[in-house]
Amino acid sequence: MKFLSFLMLFASVVSAQSNYPKDYFRLPLDIPMQLSGNFGELRPNHFHAGFDFKTNQQEGLNVYAAADGYVSRIKISTIGYGKAIYITHPNGFTTVYGHLQKANGRIQDKIIELQYSEKSYEIESYFKPDELPINKGDVIAISGNTGGSDGPHLHFEFRDNKTEEIINPLFFGLELKDHKNPVVSNLLVYPIDSQSVANKSKRPVILSLSLQKDGTYLSERVLATGRIGFGINANDADDVSYSSNGVYKTQLFSNGKPIFGFEFDQMIFDEARYVNAFIDYTRYKKTHQRIQKLFMKQPYGWSNIYQNVANGIINVTPNFLASQRIEVSDYQENKTIINIPIEYSAKPALILEDIKPTNYFIKAKADANFEKENVSVFFPASTFYDDFYLNFDVKNEILYLHEDVVPAHSFFYVSFEDTKTSDTDKKKMFIANLNGTKLSYNATKLVGNTFTCRSKTLGQFILAKDTIAPKIYMAKSIEGKWLTDKKSIQFTISDDLSGIKTYNCFINDKWVLFEYEPKTKKLTHSFDDKLLLEGQNKLKIEVTDNVGNSTIFETNFFRSQKK
Ligand SMILES: [Zn+2]
Repeated sequence: MKFLSFLMLFASVVSAQSNYPKDYFRLPLDIPMQLSGNFGELRPNHFHAGFDFKTNQQEGLNVYAAADGYVSRIKISTIGYGKAIYITHPNGFTTVYGHLQKANGRIQDKIIELQYSEKSYEIESYFKPDELPINKGDVIAISGNTGGSDGPHLHFEFRDNKTEEIINPLFFGLELKDHKNPVVSNLLVYPIDSQSVANKSKRPVILSLSLQKDGTYLSERVLATGRIGFGINANDADDVSYSSNGVYKTQLFSNGKPIFGFEFDQMIFDEARYVNAFIDYTRYKKTHQRIQKLFMKQPYGWSNIYQNVANGIINVTPNFLASQRIEVSDYQENKTIINIPIEYSAKPALILEDIKPTNYFIKAKADANFEKENVSVFFPASTFYDDFYLNFDVKNEILYLHEDVVPAHSFFYVSFEDTKTSDTDKKKMFIANLNGTKLSYNATKLVGNTFTCRSKTLGQFILAKDTIAPKIYMAKSIEGKWLTDKKSIQFTISDDLSGIKTYNCFINDKWVLFEYEPKTKKLTHSFDDKLLLEGQNKLKIEVTDNVGNSTIFETNFFRSQKK
């Protein structure tokens, strides 16, 4: 039944795909399209939701509205999409433009107005259709590198106005020349159960591939017993982008019937984190290689997957006879095919399982609570995708909570009780992640003597104290200087431990906008003569860290408006 419903779903996707308007949207840049990232590509904790357009490795390119519509949302953040503009179009879709350096015209005026009224660089606001109408081809912004971006580029995505699903930009007729087949750099066989053996191993085994005369690949023979599954590492390049991006579609066939597969047609935003269930997370953490598993040991709720009743798992019994084939395709239907011969073999394993039983077994579907000394941990049911033996210990005030090799889908809770520290000192304390010698901040609540934080990452935790206030630094002092010719001023701010929480800047006691870029630690203000006095001006900057230590920096500068 499940499989049938998949076929129906698949058919509806194919027909829906042809219903998307093909000539409605223009490209948001006026340079030829080159992608540094594509739709569905595997990223840390998410599938990539749009296209990343290369911008000639620079900022400041004009960003154009892809079609008529109106600005429906603006979000300015120091993380995520950075400065982002959403344009809603009357044909049922919204386009999103991210990592912008600066908006243009009325949109920029609106942003400044909101930032001053909220006294905050970071804002999020929604708009009605008549507030900021936009015509196709209007320059809405210039491209940048703001937010969670590690190089200048434009993030561009499509959403369905009704369902809010994210849609593959290629559905809208954006032309991408691609004659290259996807590249499968690794094929692995996974013994699923403790009785399963594949090629004399109870651990995943890499299978060598050989290119055949007809262009397909033949895998090394799999000699197995019990339930097994397959995983691949696959990428796709197009003709023009010189980047290796994600693949569009992957299918596993058994005797010609599809038994597992996925396709990046559209995605549901809230399902992004399933990427950690989809890849072999342990291997990714240890080798940085993302193996996409073509089976599910325990089903998880990612809508882009279809599977048969056995969830893509193949049971190899005596007299097993079936041909397995993997097909990996890009959007233009260039295809890489791998045939995998499997034979039953009763030979025992020489390489045994990598599982070390502990006293702390996690059943993924059930709540779990562990305590030792002054530390307790609570995992609500369904925190994890699979059952596993957790390493748990408390030694020298450090909580050892496994390693970040098992992915958590949702938050678990860590508590430390502290009856020794004074109430005053407690206010400066938080639960930190300990990575080697590096401490990182978790938002921590204190109730009575108990500190609690939540996390989605296993590892080491420790109570930490931050008593050192942030630093505010200026490369060249402006004290007493005339800055009449300067367009902007910039400060470097940093905090040694808990991290920067707030930054507020005042000129002549009035709040003024400073933009904060955590990647460079820079606080930047662009002068606006309306906010300045003739002659002497007073500047004050206040920066606070996450536990409330704060630093105030004050200076004076001169400026003349009679230029
Ligand atoms: Zn992106």
